[in-house]
Amino acid sequence: MLNSDTEPAAEPPARVCHDDLVRYELDGVELWDGTAARGASRIVWEDGRGEGIRSLEPADAPDPRFDGLSVIPGLIDTHVHLIGYAGAPGGAEFFTWPLTTRPEEQVLHGLANARAALAAGVTTLRDLSADDVQFSLGRALAGGIVDGPRLLAHGMVGMTGGHADLFTPAAFPIRKPTADGPDACRRLVREYARAGADGIKVATSGGVLSQGDRAAWRNHTDAELDAIVDEAHALGLPVAAHAHSEDGIRRALDAGVDSIEHATLITAELAERAAAAGVTVAPTLLINDRIASGDPRYGSAESAEKARALVVRRDALLTDAAARGLDFVLGTDANGHHVRFGDEPDELRAMARVLGWSAERTLQAATSRAAAAVKRGDTLGKLEAGASADLVVVRGRPWLDLDALRPENVVAVVVRGRVLVGALPGGSVIR
Ligand SMILES: [Zn+2]
Repeated sequence: MLNSDTEPAAEPPARVCHDDLVRYELDGVELWDGTAARGASRIVWEDGRGEGIRSLEPADAPDPRFDGLSVIPGLIDTHVHLIGYAGAPGGAEFFTWPLTTRPEEQVLHGLANARAALAAGVTTLRDLSADDVQFSLGRALAGGIVDGPRLLAHGMVGMTGGHADLFTPAAFPIRKPTADGPDACRRLVREYARAGADGIKVATSGGVLSQGDRAAWRNHTDAELDAIVDEAHALGLPVAAHAHSEDGIRRALDAGVDSIEHATLITAELAERAAAAGVTVAPTLLINDRIASGDPRYGSAESAEKARALVVRRDALLTDAAARGLDFVLGTDANGHHVRFGDEPDELRAMARVLGWSAERTLQAATSRAAAAVKRGDTLGKLEAGASADLVVVRGRPWLDLDALRPENVVAVVVRGRVLVGALPGGSVIR
């Protein structure tokens, strides 16, 4: 149990140990299943065997114990950096912290960040610059060694002098791996696969926080991108591509990536191409707005200037792309610094505003559609019999009013059937 400052349950939580099997039932609670509202429902799941949701059906009647509450699937943040930086805001060590901090210490910060997101109702995180720290943490979470959300981890394949490499000052001797040439790119993909990565991340354009970089710069040759995507897909790994520029987005689509991160300057033609190919986009609105604000806590003047140049054109392009059917999903780029873990609901509200979406359409982008984007749509992001028991009990009905989705309204968060945050509001027990 991570959070005890929710209201006390009306009666003890609906949980009983029975030969290591714990079965929960919420009968008569309002439920939204990841796509649509189901009204008063009866949902039963188990903790102890990992079997997920046992049944979900209409309830005979709403239960007054659940007045004002509802159940939704746990949120999925498709783009985070669990171990970006853990120092003071605006700290000079922002760019070197991950390289000068022992991995054992990084794991602890990563776990704390993951739990902060969990308290806001996020039950799956996808780290897009992962190495052994995240792979290890992900295994510990999956195995129930430590409590927290699910963690998917993509290894970064970046070129020398590219977006990822320019996070490390040029003269700094310790660096993250880079790969140049198709063969080296393939090798790095294979090394990540061997280490247990869930996917691969590439950059096809420069970035905002990378210093001395330009968002318009090309990253990787087409031959390198083709090799990365071909090798990743051959090994069952989806590829997420960072791209701000039109050229970067086009080249990512040409290479056959699975998702595009940022897509800031996407054109109508590229939006339609991506939509037709089933490629999703995480628009990462908050982080670029905050960097563009020029607040020194959020980075250098160079970064602010680059972010402003992108943001000024972004909203109109993304609004148009959404109208053309592009499938935007929740991806905050949270690193605990520019965007905190737990800011996910704020990112969703920004998406609703910029994309012109209803609360329900926006919530789909954080649940069922985000699950599909991370290739886990078979079990995550939805509530139905057989799906994973990853769910949130919340005050209000967020699919009607996104403002209800706030950490202080989270009553309980369940991951893999286990109550990890808060307490269930007086359910019942089946033996
Ligand atoms: Zn990122």
